[in-house]
Amino acid sequence: MVVAKFGGSSLADSQQFRKVKAIVTENPDRRIIVPSAPGKRHGKDHKVTDLLYMCHQLSSHDLHFDEVFQLIRDRYEGICKDLDLETPIGEILDKVREDISKGASRDYCASRGEYINGRILADYLESDFVDAAQVIRFDRRGALDEAETGRLVKERLSEVQRAVVPGFYGADGDGNIVTFSRGGSDVTGSILADGVGAKLYENWTDVSGFLKADPKIVKDPLPIREVTYKELRELSYMGAPVLHEEAIFPIKSKGIPIQIRNTNIPEDQGTFIVNDDWSEPSPGIITGLAGKKDFTVISVEKTRMTGEKGFLRKLVSVFEANDVTIEHMPSSIDSISVIVSDKELNGKLSKLMEEIRIYCNPDNVAAYSKMALLAVVGRGMINTKGVSSRVFTALYKDDINIRMISQGSSELNILIGIENDDFEKSVRAIYNAFNEREVS
Ligand code: ASP
Repeated sequence: MVVAKFGGSSLADSQQFRKVKAIVTENPDRRIIVPSAPGKRHGKDHKVTDLLYMCHQLSSHDLHFDEVFQLIRDRYEGICKDLDLETPIGEILDKVREDISKGASRDYCASRGEYINGRILADYLESDFVDAAQVIRFDRRGALDEAETGRLVKERLSEVQRAVVPGFYGADGDGNIVTFSRGGSDVTGSILADGVGAKLYENWTDVSGFLKADPKIVKDPLPIREVTYKELRELSYMGAPVLHEEAIFPIKSKGIPIQIRNTNIPEDQGTFIVNDDWSEPSPGIITGLAGKKDFTVISVEKTRMTGEKGFLRKLVSVFEANDVTIEHMPSSIDSISVIVSDKELNGKLSKLMEEIRIYCNPDNVAAYSKMALLAVVGRGMINTKGVSSRVFTALYKDDINIRMISQGSSELNILIGIENDDFEKSVRAIYNAFNEREVS
């Protein structure tokens, strides 16, 4: 069984629905189909989910939302008309409109984008419609109830010929709709793939998988053919979006591969996300480069710091008490740096430094801002000599000053701290330091 999830741009209008039908019917194994809500058709267009959030917002302030709702109505009615469907779309939309005006919850309102798209797609594909509220179960605190969801999915979906299950939401035990975070249809697809024990989870979108570097920085970067779960975590955590961060976890234990594919170019192979113990050798040394700007380094110096019991605990507790997440902590014998993103810091820097002075009694505390972090990720680096020397030589040749270096013990990535202004230049320098065969 294959679970196929189609993103918002893959279902943005009737033309896209036609492409989806051709893809689904081409392979009878594609038996569980997970749609997002209609996305943008062009740059200035709106996502239906955004419009639904807007309707909820207006309605909760007792303001008219008809004008916005009409945009939603036009989108769905247009699709049904173009595809000549008998879906009772007017009735479905009227009910949603009424629910919003009666004060339905924010999650309920947002979920209707996927719900309605699912109803339409099920009719168009002549498939069963299974409401996600019946199979995706949340507990009372709003967290996914994995055990109950697993049971419901297996019971309801294992035997289906072909079913459409809307993405992005589920329900708690009382039937209240709960959504995942934005982009959460990816998570739904993953949960369903796990529940039915699918052999593959296809994630259809508008790009042919992941690229080795940001195309806004590197011209025509190569696509990533295969990436392991762990490599992807390193890359996505550093800011290479395509798949929802949480989408890996449900299928990881069973080792179900995810294939990112392009609805508009279905002949492209896209990217396979595979198990960490994937036995095929990596075709290149570098799988990908990703990074983010705007970090601050708080550097703490204290002679014989390593000999002082509890020093690290005290330092870390200052950040914890101020609700600031630590990104990294590179250290040397008498100093330690704490790296935090500026977003986390959010105006708390002087308070943090003051508290470090009080609790840790250091010789010196200083902060440097405007730092970027760049991750060079690749399972091919393991046991390959000379990778870091090439990375650093490339940076040296381009006159880039390295502020921090850290390599995980798994040898899966090298993390480099540089000035914000050197970020793009560094990505290009490292990318170009490895030839086509080595990065592909
Ligand atoms: N429609 C939702 C969003 O825009 C969920 C999704 O597309 O996965 O975030």
